[in-house]
Amino acid sequence: MESKKLQLEKLNAEMLACAKCALRKGCTQVVPGAGSESAKIMFIGEAPGKKEDETGEPFVGAAGKFLNEMLNAIKLKREDVYIANVCKCRPPENRDPLPEEISTCWPWLLAQIEIIQPKLIITLGRHSMERFLPGFKISEVHGKAMRREIEGMGKPGLPAGRQVFYTLYHPAAALYNGGMRETLIKDFKRIPKIIAKIEKEEK
Ligand code: URA
Repeated sequence: MESKKLQLEKLNAEMLACAKCALRKGCTQVVPGAGSESAKIMFIGEAPGKKEDETGEPFVGAAGKFLNEMLNAIKLKREDVYIANVCKCRPPENRDPLPEEISTCWPWLLAQIEIIQPKLIITLGRHSMERFLPGFKISEVHGKAMRREIEGMGKPGLPAGRQVFYTLYHPAAALYNGGMRETLIKDFKRIPKIIAKIEKEEK
């Protein structure tokens, strides 16, 4: 069995060559994701913005700085987690990704999750939440951890509902909105307790 690192490197190389939807024509480069292949926590945002498109790294603009600050506050570094997006290419003018663009990119995200096998998936913002937890309202589920079984995720034979999700507001949305910012910071600080609970349940 190849190491996770090698599997992820191969997957990234495939992603970099992807041109399955129109987004690739309008962006500078594919932004596969960044972080540790053995991360316990995987953060999933929406799609790369301008800075991410320029650098090839997810969450490096203003929202990324805020994310880094919140990670530092719980004594984590970007290198300790994995950060990816639902769409790997920047939509023109940062518009919301279209449903068909999200669906085309979905197998890449599933493959990343399959390799990394995070204990906790943290969705950032409504679009990421909706892909995993359709029908929920972010204003109602933010800050609540829940176990869900997602079609196409996980290996056959494993017990249902094994993946834990935690929904947060998007750092970009919360950046300039005082109330949402406070809520996001508060929700973020609960992450270590959630991980500890998952690990306790695994024993
Ligand atoms: N917003 C996102 O959703 N993802 C990024 O990578 C950057 C900003």
